[in-house]
Formats: sequence, structure tokens, C-alpha cells
Amino acid sequence: MNLANRDSNVIWHPYTHRSNDELNPTDLPIPIVKGEGVYLFDENGNKYIDAISSWWVNIHGHAHPYIAAKVSEQLKTLEHVIFAGFTHQPAVELAERLLHILPSNQSKVFYSDNGSTAVEVSLKMAIQYWSNKGFKKEKIIAFDNAYHGDTFGAMSVSARSGFTKPFSSLLFEVIHIPVPINGNEDESFTKLRAEILNHQNEIAAFIFEPLVLGAGGMLMYEATALDQLISICKKNEILTIADEVMTGFGRTGKLFASDHLQQQPDIICLSKGLTGGTMPMGITTCTATIFNAFTSEDRSKTMYHGHSYTANPLACTAALASLDLLLKEECQQNIQRISTYMQTLANQLQSFPSFTNIRCTGTIIAVDVVTNEETSYFNSFRDRLYHFFLSKGILLRPLGNTVYIMPPYCISNNDLYYISTALETIPTIG
Ligand code: PMP
Repeated sequence: MNLANRDSNVIWHPYTHRSNDELNPTDLPIPIVKGEGVYLFDENGNKYIDAISSWWVNIHGHAHPYIAAKVSEQLKTLEHVIFAGFTHQPAVELAERLLHILPSNQSKVFYSDNGSTAVEVSLKMAIQYWSNKGFKKEKIIAFDNAYHGDTFGAMSVSARSGFTKPFSSLLFEVIHIPVPINGNEDESFTKLRAEILNHQNEIAAFIFEPLVLGAGGMLMYEATALDQLISICKKNEILTIADEVMTGFGRTGKLFASDHLQQQPDIICLSKGLTGGTMPMGITTCTATIFNAFTSEDRSKTMYHGHSYTANPLACTAALASLDLLLKEECQQNIQRISTYMQTLANQLQSFPSFTNIRCTGTIIAVDVVTNEETSYFNSFRDRLYHFFLSKGILLRPLGNTVYIMPPYCISNNDLYYISTALETIPTIG
């Protein structure tokens, strides 16, 4: 039996629909035997451009020799140690280096192990901050189309959708406001102000994906609008949480999406690109004011949260190596090169009647494909798009009828051109 069939006998894959029917060969997972740069190679020698950076995590290309060397060195010295009561060089160095490049108000780093847990920690920090200070402020504001992860807190602050439906009665109530997409800003500001009035002194925090809402459909909005929302929150003693799990580490053209803002968020969530896509890791950072609310003689004010693999030394080492690469002139130039390419492509695609809502922020471009078919994530049109790109040797995972490109920064202009040419032939797939 081949690997794909052995897999389907024993493995339950994420976000993968399985029908009662016999599995179609095209529904079987593709066994990947090797990654190199932007390419993934399957067991039959087929090559795929990883145009979505393997769920947005990979920023320097696969099996990067520099990261591999650093991680394997670390593996021989210390693979892991409990992080309560103990510490180690990679964790301290990573925290120091991150605080150096994050918005200047960030002062402490809390480690966890993926994007959802980074979000969970941020929510607990915000709610317990108020509780420690003697306030009962427990409500959270989030965007209508938000996606913050799959654990229960993260699902609660995400949009209600087909993904969260079976759990809807179990999710805590959240105040949703519209995303301030171009032209829609006032609606968003007005709703925020109205909700603050309705829930005076009850709102703990506003959580948002800065500039780009990822899984909610690659919706993009301006930094000036977010600045306005944050400043309304600040005036009303509401903490602000920037979920930079997707936008962090160069995706928006700057190191962090928060770097486009005048305002500074109180809490920042990081993951995905943090380790260059090598190891799972989550980080939640916060201001000194927040941290100080957890320091007390009273032990009940402690942040009682932690995961077995908190600050795993291998993951910290991968993150340090990834940071070395990210801060190099070459990588920064690549980010600018890709951003320019995407902007030019966005302008070019405007003349295609088959695309609408063409948008671009930094290294990310997204378009909606015009179709008469149903366009949710669950439809067959989306599956056809996915298979169309795979047949061209390109890994893209459309969100419904939204096709987006979010490549590793080492992608060449030739490969970008190849992907955009494939994109332009979409209308012919019907
Ligand atoms: N926040 C955002 C903005 C995300 O895009 C994601 C994942 N796509 C998450 C949180 C959750 O991250 P993870 O899948 O690592 O739990």
C-alpha cells in the first residue's frame, strides 16, 4: 500500500472534508519527501511552489541550511527543559531580541506553542489584568470576519461561521464590529463607540488582526482606520491586542503590521513566521503596565498558565536563526521586491473582468474570482481552483472564491511570474 493510502487508514487531517464515498485519488494527501527553498517535492518527483508558505509559516524557504544547522547544534546540547523555575540562553536571547524590534511599549514575553495559544494567553492577560486591578471587565470586542484560532477562547473571538457552528452555544459572547474596509470606516467607528456606551466599564479588550484579516477572507484595511479604533479604545480604558500571528515578521512589508501604526497595541500575539516555519511556537508580549498588575504579594494574581513545551529551546533557536535571516539586508530587499511585484500585479489584474476586490498589502495579494457558483469555503468551486493550481505545480489554498498568494521571501520573480500567469488563466477553468 502506498503512503497516501496508509495515511488515510490512520490519519485524521486538519480542515479536510471526508465523505462516505471511496476516496478519490485526487482527495488523497500528497506525500512530500523533501522541501528546498520555495519548492516541495512529492514522492513521484513532482515539484510544487509553496505559494502560501505552508499555512503562512514559512518565510525563508524550506529546510533552510542555516536554521537546520543552528537547530541541530542546539539539539545536541539541550532539547527541552521545564520553563517554570528554569530558563535557558535561547529563550532569554530571543525575548531580548524580539523586544528590541517590537513596538517600544512592549516589555515582557510570554511563551506558548502556536497561534491559538498565543491568543488564549492574550485574552487571559487582558481579562485577569482588570480582575487583578479590582475591575470586572470581561467583554471582548473583535472584528466581524476575524479568525484568531481553533481553541475555545480563540474561536469565541473569531467570526461565527460554519467552522464554529457546532460549538456556537459554548462560545463566550463577543461584541463584533465591522472591519473598517475602505469606505466602511465610519460604520466601524460608530459601532465601536455605540458598543462602548452600551457596555460602560465592562469591556476588557479589543482584539484585531492588524491590516489584514487572514482566514476570514484576506480582508485588508488601512492603518489610519486601525489607529482611530485603537485610540477610541485607549480613551475608554480598553486594552488593545494585535494578533500578528499572520502579519508578523515582514508579511505586510514592515517587520510587524503594528509598525504601520501611530498607536501602539498593549498586547501582541506572534507565531507562524516566528520560527521561520521550522518549529511550532507562540509568543504573547505585553507592556510593563500589564505585567505589573500580575506582580503582588497576593498569589491569586499570578498568571496560572503554561504549556509543557513552553519556550522549547529548539523552537527558540529556530526563531533566533530565522530572525538573523530576516534582519539581513538581502531578506529586507526581497520583502520590498515581492511587495513591489504584488502591487504591480494588483494593478494589472484590475483590467480582468474575472477578478474583483483586488487587494494587496506588502507581500500578500488577494483577489476574488467572479463566479455564479456558491462561493463559501465548503463549495466545489474552491476545490476546483485548488486542484487547478496543483496541476500547474503551485500550492495555493483558496478561501472560497478568494485566491491569495503569500510566498516565502526567497521566491524569485520568475516563480512569481509563473504563479501570476496561472492566476490569469483561471477564467478558462469555468
Ligand atoms: N491568529 C491568526 C491571525 C491566524 O491567522 C491564525 C492561524 N491561521 C491563528 C491565530 C491560529 O494559529 P495556529 O493555527 O497556529 O493555532
